[in-house]
Amino acid sequence: MSLDKKGKTFVISGPSGVGKSTVLKALFEGRGDLYFSVSATTRKPRPGEVNGVNYWFLDDQQFTDKEEAGDFLETATVHGLARYGTPLKPVQEHLAEGVPTILEIDLQGARRVKQRAKELGLEVVYVFIAPPSFDELVRRLKGRGTETPEEVAKRLETAHVELSAENEFDVTIVNDDVDKAAEDLWRVIASEYGITE
Ligand code: 5GP
Repeated sequence: MSLDKKGKTFVISGPSGVGKSTVLKALFEGRGDLYFSVSATTRKPRPGEVNGVNYWFLDDQQFTDKEEAGDFLETATVHGLARYGTPLKPVQEHLAEGVPTILEIDLQGARRVKQRAKELGLEVVYVFIAPPSFDELVRRLKGRGTETPEEVAKRLETAHVELSAENEFDVTIVNDDVDKAAEDLWRVIASEYGITE
């Protein structure tokens, strides 16, 4: 890939259960030259999740210490249940190498990045992943089976808010087919980098 000197940041948001992680997994399987920002979180790992791969799993005190040290690009409490944050340094290091850098974060985080982009000299493209319909989102979220009914209810509450913020984003990708959504996302990145293939 021919890269600009300075990389671009792609903020990927969308309601919980829309399939962001699956779309990103499909994108990364096809492309090695992208950087996925591994977030820190205070939530407990789900079965199969690996520290340093899916998230950096921290306790509350560790998270607070890092936040106070200015180690995060942004942080948010998501669904009122756990804290999440994007480690700043790895993002800056990859951008300095010109690598397209992907942040999978919630709406609050996306807004925070918008506030800080200028100060940090970030060039950001905001991408919203939308479900084919709200009913489909409910079905996917319940079908995942990894959350308690209380957590599912919280996530649906948040989903209503997040869906109404779609117009704050530069691009919307509807996830009705994972491979197609991953390809659409790649097109967005490629066009920002002036890549034609
Ligand atoms: P989950 O717990 O299902 O992995 O993620 C819950 C939500 O937290 C998702 O909407 C995800 O995009 C968001 N999230 C993950 N990492 C971060 C982060 O570093 N910052 C923010 N603001 N949200 C994040």
